[in-house]
Amino acid sequence: MSTVAHQEVKKHAQDLLDFIDASPSPWHAVATAEILLKQNRFTPLNESDHWQLSSGGRHYVIRGGGSIIAFIVGSKSVVEGFNMVGAHTDSPGLRLKPHAAFSSDGLIRIGVEVYGGPILATFTDRDLSIAGRVNVRAQSGFETRLIKFDQALIRLPNLAIHMNREVNDKGLKLNKQTELPLIFGESEDGVAAEQQFLNHIAQALEVTVADIINFELNVFDTQKGAIWGQHQEFIADSQLDNLASCHAAITALTNTKHPTSTAICALFDHEEVGSESATGASGSFLADIIHRIGLSQNLSQEDALRGLAKSFFISADMAHAYHPNHAGSYEPCHHALVNKGPVIKTNANQRYATSADSAAKFIGLCEQAGVPYQQYAHRTDLGCGSTIGPIVASRLGVNSVDVGSPMWAMHSLRESAGVLDHTYMITVLSKHYN
Ligand code: ZN
Repeated sequence: MSTVAHQEVKKHAQDLLDFIDASPSPWHAVATAEILLKQNRFTPLNESDHWQLSSGGRHYVIRGGGSIIAFIVGSKSVVEGFNMVGAHTDSPGLRLKPHAAFSSDGLIRIGVEVYGGPILATFTDRDLSIAGRVNVRAQSGFETRLIKFDQALIRLPNLAIHMNREVNDKGLKLNKQTELPLIFGESEDGVAAEQQFLNHIAQALEVTVADIINFELNVFDTQKGAIWGQHQEFIADSQLDNLASCHAAITALTNTKHPTSTAICALFDHEEVGSESATGASGSFLADIIHRIGLSQNLSQEDALRGLAKSFFISADMAHAYHPNHAGSYEPCHHALVNKGPVIKTNANQRYATSADSAAKFIGLCEQAGVPYQQYAHRTDLGCGSTIGPIVASRLGVNSVDVGSPMWAMHSLRESAGVLDHTYMITVLSKHYN
């Protein structure tokens, strides 16, 4: 690799880690994506306004705070189809309950709900904190404010091995109701735990406790992302699944200058809990945006359907990299290797949207872009994950493929992947848009 190319690869990896570290919740991920879009001359559209779109227009729409769709209107009519990429903004983890704080034995603890399917043991003994959104009273009723405590604020200490002698043989098991509450602090005499917790939030937002209506708060790891390995060839951070794909898609779109076909990047909330929501991939968001882009060009319903028939949707979500310590967990002949390019995910039972046709189309893009690719199938006797690919494909009836960069430790609080793969993904998605 040339020095210039090497520097670009490193820059993409560092940009990704910065993107993740600024995005400790799906709402922050959307806000961070919005900053990148604004820097690249994209302007916001409101779903409740009348839209007037013109060729070359660069816009984005946010729905519900956790989902965002950005697009560039192509120079050709949408009858010629849309080039689309989708990913998800949410990651599995712990979410605070509405009345989160309670005290016992002189300590305040924070009650949490499990969001999606995290590896719970990875939340122990880490410098955790809280981030999310808070609704505060305003003249118009309420306003939503993002909040992020940068310092370590809460903790889930392990039980000592002397009281859990079998932990190394049987694994760390945590009861979700009784063993997940996180320690927030020592309780102050005479002040209710909830009041102490809300004081903390109010102070950070410079409002009074009475101003706080409610909140949605996420537990996150304050440790910043790292580049590691003998040759600095790997990255580690939380939420690589799936902020790595979000960042790759946004970067590819913002690098796109004058696409002939309309280019769309759709980042959805709620994938980790099944996508069934107004803002999730199963909702109407993407269909509505496609419909409205067509309407703004005065196209008929038939024209819009002709456009969909020519469209291609790349569902980008991380893939399982081969772990040499656990060879038996993988399907032979399907070892996806870190730093060896995007992984095409296939499942005959349609847990992935990939078909031979859509895979061939993606392979064509990789070949044109000079990017290597790999194929993945899960062990037949293990349940395979799924993602937004089949949901979007069935909702829109669009030719779709499921791909992703290979990674280790999916759904750990600290995941890892390859430096090079991120540039590969950006490069092939850019080819798709152009
Ligand atoms: Zn994912």
